[in-house]
Amino acid sequence: MEKRDYYEVLGVSKNASDDEIKAAFRQMAKKYHPDINKSPDAPEKFKEAQEAYSVLSDPTKRAQYDQYGHAAFQGATGGAGGFDFSGFDFSDIFGDLFGGSSFFGGRGSSNRARKGNDSILRINLTFEEAVFGCKKTININTSENCPECNGKGGYDESVCPTCHGSGSVTAEQRTLFGAFMTKTTCPTCHGNGRSFKETCKKCRGTGKIKVNKDLEVKIPAGVNTGNQLRLSGKGEAGVNGGPNGDVYLEFNVKNHPLFERDDNDIYLTLPITVTEAILGCKKDIPTIYGTVTLTIPEGSETNDKQRLKGKGVEDVNTGRKGDMYVVLKIVIPKKLSRDQKKLFEELSKTDLESGSEFKKIREYL
Ligand SMILES: [Zn+2]
Ligand SMILES: [Zn+2]
Repeated sequence: MEKRDYYEVLGVSKNASDDEIKAAFRQMAKKYHPDINKSPDAPEKFKEAQEAYSVLSDPTKRAQYDQYGHAAFQGATGGAGGFDFSGFDFSDIFGDLFGGSSFFGGRGSSNRARKGNDSILRINLTFEEAVFGCKKTININTSENCPECNGKGGYDESVCPTCHGSGSVTAEQRTLFGAFMTKTTCPTCHGNGRSFKETCKKCRGTGKIKVNKDLEVKIPAGVNTGNQLRLSGKGEAGVNGGPNGDVYLEFNVKNHPLFERDDNDIYLTLPITVTEAILGCKKDIPTIYGTVTLTIPEGSETNDKQRLKGKGVEDVNTGRKGDMYVVLKIVIPKKLSRDQKKLFEELSKTDLESGSEFKKIREYL
C-alpha cells in the first residue's frame, strides 16, 4: 500500500500550526482509538494517525519530512511500514482522553476509580423458553473484591515510595530520533500508587479474587435470537472503588419442529388432503396457546393463508401479541387403493376443467 502524506492523514494543511496538528490528531484518535472504534480498519487508521502525529509534532522531524517526504525516515526505520514510534510519549494527548490508558498497553496512572470489565455470555433457548420467558441459572466466572482485605490488596497502606502515588514512572529512552520521555506503569505498585506494609495473602495483593457463581436470571417473554439482556452490576468488580461491570446475555433461539417464527408472527404449514381441499373441512391445529379448530373452506389451494389474530409471540418490549399464519399445503397421495383409484377415475370423467386457467391453455393449443 502506498504510504499516505502525513498532512493528508491528519487532514491539515502544509502550514498548519502545532496547535492545529494536535487538535487534528486528537480528533482522529478519538474516532479511531481501538478501545472505542471496533471496526476492523480502526487499528490501522489509528496507527497511521499516530505515525503522522509523531513526525509533524516534532519541529526537527517535520522539517525533515517537509524537505524529503517519507524518504527522510526510511533509512532510519528499516523500510516503509516499519515506522518506529514506540519511544514517543502520547500520554499528554491520551491522558485526558482515555483516563490514562494509552494504546501501548501501559495503563499510566491508574489509581482512579474505574468500572469493572463487562462480559458477554451466549445462551441457548428453546423456542418455548424464548416465547414464554423462563428462569435460568447461569454460571459465570468473574472476579470480586477480596473479602480478606476489602479489595485493597494489603494492610497498613501508604503512598508508593517509587512513584509517590502517581502510579507511573517517567524514563528517558534513546532512539534513532533522539531521546524521548516514556511513561510506564510503576513497577513497585503496578500502577495503583499505593504500597502496603503487609500484602494480602488471599489475593496476593491484587485486591480481587476469581469466583465462579450461579446467577438466577428471569428471561422475559418474547426474546429472539440476537437480543441482549443486561445484568447490571453482575460483571467484574470495579477498580479502586469503581462500580462493577455488567454481564450481557445474548440469546440464540433454537428452531421448532412445527412453528416458524418471523419477528413476533408464527407460521405453521398445515398439510391437507385433496378431498379436504376440494370439499372443505374442520381441522384441529396446534398453536403456542393450545389447540384451535380451524375451518378450511371448500375450494382451498396450496399456499392459501389464514390469519389467527393474537396467536403470535408477545412483543418483549410492548407486550403486544403478534399473529399466527396457517399456510395450507395440499398433499397428493402417491399410493391409492384399487377402490380409491376407481373413484378418481369416475371423477375424471366429469368436467373438472372449468376454470379460466384451463381455457387460456386450450387457446394456445
Ligand atoms: Zn508506585
Ligand atoms: Zn486480599
